[in-house]
Amino acid sequence: MKAVWLLLVLVAAAKAEKTFIGDQVLRINLQSQEQLRLLQSLEHEEEWQLDFWLHPVSTDLPVDIRVPSSSLSSVKDFFLTHNIPFTIIIQNLQGLIEMEKIEMEENQKKERSTKNINFGAYHTLETIYSWMDTLVAQYPNLVTKEEIGKSYENRPMYVLKFSTGGANRPAIWIDTGIHSREWVSPATGLWTANKIASDFGSDTSLTSLLNTMDIYMLILANPDGYVYTHTNDRMWRKTRSINSGSSCRGVDPNRNWDAGFGGPGASTSPCSDSYHGPFAHSEIEVKNVVDLIKSHGNFKSFISVHAYSQLLMYPYGYTCADVADKAELDSIGREAAQKLTSLYGTYYKVGNICNIIYPASGGSIDWSYDSGIKYSFAFELRDTGYYGFLLPANQIIPTASETWLALKHILEYVRDHPY
Ligand code: ZN
Repeated sequence: MKAVWLLLVLVAAAKAEKTFIGDQVLRINLQSQEQLRLLQSLEHEEEWQLDFWLHPVSTDLPVDIRVPSSSLSSVKDFFLTHNIPFTIIIQNLQGLIEMEKIEMEENQKKERSTKNINFGAYHTLETIYSWMDTLVAQYPNLVTKEEIGKSYENRPMYVLKFSTGGANRPAIWIDTGIHSREWVSPATGLWTANKIASDFGSDTSLTSLLNTMDIYMLILANPDGYVYTHTNDRMWRKTRSINSGSSCRGVDPNRNWDAGFGGPGASTSPCSDSYHGPFAHSEIEVKNVVDLIKSHGNFKSFISVHAYSQLLMYPYGYTCADVADKAELDSIGREAAQKLTSLYGTYYKVGNICNIIYPASGGSIDWSYDSGIKYSFAFELRDTGYYGFLLPANQIIPTASETWLALKHILEYVRDHPY
């Protein structure tokens, strides 16, 4: 195994793929406001090239930081000097990435010989797109694949539409993979799309839902970023657009929506992972969704799926003020989370984005809510930081299965509460 690992590192290096040899992910549990301020100041420190997986927002929440090997000793010294206790949650990040790659390659071989997709594995964009055709062929009376536009690098963006007919029925939107490194999100999307198609007809509740409503799923909401995480940089989060006047590429596609755009929790720096972009909807991937939702005009629910932290959230992110429907959204969220927990005991926190994670402006579910789509929710899937963005593939199906119980609860609620 070690020889294979070494070989993969060498191959990666030869392909100019970014490696993370010696990088570690540190977790800090803040104990005072003073420590919080110190950690926040590190977010603007550029020399150490820190990658915040969980940002410092309050003393109640942990902070996870990927620290490049080159700055590891300086960062640890900094914490020791300031008496900030930390733990190492990922000791060997590159090792996890290589393990994931080996598993993917072994799975690809297996899938080629069996000609069946394995929902318990991570897949490339090509495999996901061609699987969509398989699903459509398998369920031609329910599923269609529709292109909603092209990405910045000219890749098609496909939605799967689940519909039993009727013109412009009330609809539910589900997107996965808007942040490209959150691989368990599109993997959950894939499993869920298959679940919806295969349970239609036998699951009476889902069947009654699809007899009156349509479901749209955008499995790869950031196709360029997703490809880039496979070919160049596993930790890439943003789009791949060129920023004029900067050598740094990409915009955070979940800070780019016209909802408190440019406000708190978004960066003005093109080099930041939370760069909001030059203007709202500057990213074609965002614009394509906005155009579809607006031209359709009858979406009743908008659900966006991220990872990680195990949270089920509703608007707002751009302000900590309550939305008008807070009580209703909170109770739907709590019931949905309870259903999720019932399967394996996975614990989820429920609340509005601003209060349970951090103020974050320009987010998609704030935009959908402000556009009149009342039942707007965002998930942060497994885990709580043990693997972070590198959740092992053997957790995909358990994650998707438990998430389905929550999703189904929301879907049924929306069906039963027309507005
Ligand atoms: Zn995300």
